[in-house]
Amino acid sequence: MLNREELKEIARMRAEDAFFVSLYLNVNPMTNVKNNYVIHVKSMLKQTAERLDKIVLKKVNGDLEKIEAYILANKRIFKKGLAILSSQGKNIWKEFHLSVPVKNEVIVDKTPYIKPLLDILDNYQRYAILLVDRESARLFVIHLGEIEEYTEVHSADVPGRHKKGGWFALSGKSYERHIDYHVALHLKDVLKQLDSFLSREYVGRLIIGGSEEAVTKVKAMLPQAAADKIIWTFQAEMFAKSKEILEKAEPILKAFEKKKEAETIDDLLTKTMKNENAVIGIENVLNALQEGRIMKLIFLKDYNQSGLACKNCSYLTVQHISICPYCKGEIQKVNYIVELAAQKAVEQGAFVEVTDENKKLQESGSIGAFLRF
Ligand SMILES: [Zn+2]
Repeated sequence: MLNREELKEIARMRAEDAFFVSLYLNVNPMTNVKNNYVIHVKSMLKQTAERLDKIVLKKVNGDLEKIEAYILANKRIFKKGLAILSSQGKNIWKEFHLSVPVKNEVIVDKTPYIKPLLDILDNYQRYAILLVDRESARLFVIHLGEIEEYTEVHSADVPGRHKKGGWFALSGKSYERHIDYHVALHLKDVLKQLDSFLSREYVGRLIIGGSEEAVTKVKAMLPQAAADKIIWTFQAEMFAKSKEILEKAEPILKAFEKKKEAETIDDLLTKTMKNENAVIGIENVLNALQEGRIMKLIFLKDYNQSGLACKNCSYLTVQHISICPYCKGEIQKVNYIVELAAQKAVEQGAFVEVTDENKKLQESGSIGAFLRF
C-alpha cells in the first residue's frame, strides 16, 4: 500500500552515476482489450530507448528490459494502474499495483518520478483505524478499499490483574491506582504515536476501536485536531484480523463517502445549472474532454455504454457519426466508453471520482464533470 513516508524516502533517492526508470502504465482490463497494454508498453519503452542519449541508454537498458519482462510475466496480478521505479545501478526496484487508473508515462532521470503516486495519496481519502486496550494498541490504514497494519504498541510494564508476585503486597486500592497509572502511561504513549502518524502521513479521518474503557479514555485524551478527525468508534477484540476490521469499518466508510459524494454532486448540479464551469450528461462530458477542459470527472459505478471513437485523435462520442468532426479521421465502435473517457481524463491530468449510487446524478445522466475553464 502507498504511504507518504515511503514515497518521501524514494524521493530522496538520487543516483549520482546511475539513472532511474519510472514507468506508469494503464493496465485496466476494461480499457485494454486483449491486454493491449503489452503492445503499448513495448512501444513506449522502444521510443524511450530511441530518444535517450547513448551513454544514458547504456546505463538503463537493463532496467528497460527488466520492466518489459516483468510486465509480460505478471499480467495476472495487475489492477487498474501499475507503477514501477527501477534503477539497476542503485539496485532498486519498486512496484505499486493501483486500483485507480494512471497516465501512461516513462521517465528516465537521476531521481525517481513519484508525483502520480503522491497525487493518488492526496486525492483518495485515507482512514486510520486505532485498535486499543489497556496494554496494547494496533494501527491500521484503509486506502482504496484495502487495509494494512502499520504498527503495534505493547506497553510491557502494564501489570495485569492476574499477575502473581510483588503486587499482592499492595493493598487493593493502591494496586488499582498502580494499574491505572500504567494504563495512563500506555495510552499516552499510544496517543503520541498516533498523533505523529496522522501528521506524518496526512491521514484525514480516524476510527477508534477496542475495549470500551480504552476507547472512552483515548477519546477524552486526544488533542482537538485529532479528535476532529474521528468519524466512528466501535468495540472489538485486540486480536481481530485485518480482514475482520475492514469488514466492520466498510459500511461506515461507505456511508461517510456517500455523504461526501452527495455534497460534491449537489455542487456539480448547482454549478451546471448556473453555467459555472461544470457539465452533466455523456455528450457534454465527451466534448469537454476533447477540448481538454475537465478538472474532475464524476460518474456512477454501474454506468456504461458503447459508443464511437476516432482512430486518429481518439475523440469519443455517443452520436452516430461516420467521420471525426475534429480531424476527419476514421471512426470505430467501442465498448466501455465511460472507462475510456476516464482513462483519457487521467491522461489529461484530471481527477476521476466513481460514485456507487446517487439518485440525483442518475437522473441527470449518470456522468458529469467540473471544468478547468
Ligand atoms: Zn479525430
